[in-house]
Amino acid sequence: MEPTTRNSPTPSLLDLHPSFGFGDRLGLATPGHILATQAGQLLPIFAQQSVREMDRTNRTPLEVMSAAKEAIRASGWQGAWGADADHLKTETDVINLANAGFTFFTIDPSDFVNNAAANLVQNRLKGALDAVVKSQAFESIGQIEDLYLGKNIEVSNDLTLDFKNKEELYRTVVKYGRAIAYAEKMSGWITKATSGADCEIEVSVDETDTPTTPIEHLFIGMELKRRGIQCVSLAPRFVGQFEKAIDYKGDLDSFELTLAQHVAIARYCGPYKISVHSGSDKFRIYPIIGRVCGNLLHVKTAGTSYLEALRVVAKRNPEAFLEIIKFSIERFNTDRATYHISADLNRVNDPVTLNQKEREVEFLNLDDGRQVMHVTFGSVLTIGKMPDNQPFKEVILETLSTNLDLHNQLLNEHLGRHIRLLSYG
Ligand SMILES: [Zn+2]
Repeated sequence: MEPTTRNSPTPSLLDLHPSFGFGDRLGLATPGHILATQAGQLLPIFAQQSVREMDRTNRTPLEVMSAAKEAIRASGWQGAWGADADHLKTETDVINLANAGFTFFTIDPSDFVNNAAANLVQNRLKGALDAVVKSQAFESIGQIEDLYLGKNIEVSNDLTLDFKNKEELYRTVVKYGRAIAYAEKMSGWITKATSGADCEIEVSVDETDTPTTPIEHLFIGMELKRRGIQCVSLAPRFVGQFEKAIDYKGDLDSFELTLAQHVAIARYCGPYKISVHSGSDKFRIYPIIGRVCGNLLHVKTAGTSYLEALRVVAKRNPEAFLEIIKFSIERFNTDRATYHISADLNRVNDPVTLNQKEREVEFLNLDDGRQVMHVTFGSVLTIGKMPDNQPFKEVILETLSTNLDLHNQLLNEHLGRHIRLLSYG
């Protein structure tokens, strides 16, 4: 691993070391994130932003990168750190992020995942399979059957997987075949955009309608390998609910059981790390994740740091916080559309009836309020304004700039707790 130097911090490849992604939507969180890394042994990714987040906050890849670099330079941080171009969907995305110096590329082929595959009736299934082959994702149905049908694949000592029959294989190919072919295409764009320089690739299929089954993961992992795409991590969709900004909902035993299968498959097909998206605030399962994944671990967080920034505003600029809450409540039903959350405005108290402390608890500690504040960040940071027309973003940045110590302390405590619990393994 390349150590960074004081004068010119540059991101490194983190390889198969356990790692943790800190998304910073405001550009002032990296000093607090640097402190939080001391809570464990996970290598940090300080510059991490998805294309969608940048669109929603009107930030450029270069701004995201510069904010992280500035903070690293100022703090004298000497360790390795990564830069994740998160959820890339197009060639333009790849080029823009590569030009800004990102070195970790998260391929998101989810637009090509066919979520209807499990429910197609027989003749529709055959038609959909033909369409996948026609799109040139595979040479022929015969090729697919030769590769996967009737094979007992010994993934590990206690895990052997096989496609039970043609139908199960076909449904898996229909669901993921085109997505895998698209990931292959994107991987070519990444090689080209980085001029062959060293970089890392993650493939994410976390944003699908149903959990990724072990056999689906095995199919994806084997196909990536067969196509020569060497990924450093893969993000499946796990069982249970990974809602934004709140703790895991679901059965811990089945989570652990399926996670262990995913890790075994990652070892067999890679090895690559298992990447946990929407990874913030999942305190109930961090000790399990740390223990089961071992070194094959990556976790991504983003919005939770924005909520800690709002906590600074709640404590030091309560009038502004109240305005931001009122605006977020107004925006909520529109902004929630693309998010996996269960918040209900009917369960949230009217902020005007609460005192300052109660408001912080209601909107930054309790589940419904946290999600209301979480999903509206883009609107708050781009169109939200105080009654005197000062943009919220300006007010938030001013408040953070005059309360740097508190901001760093809150981030350190909150993200440090994440890293400590993940390190229990
Ligand atoms: Zn994701």
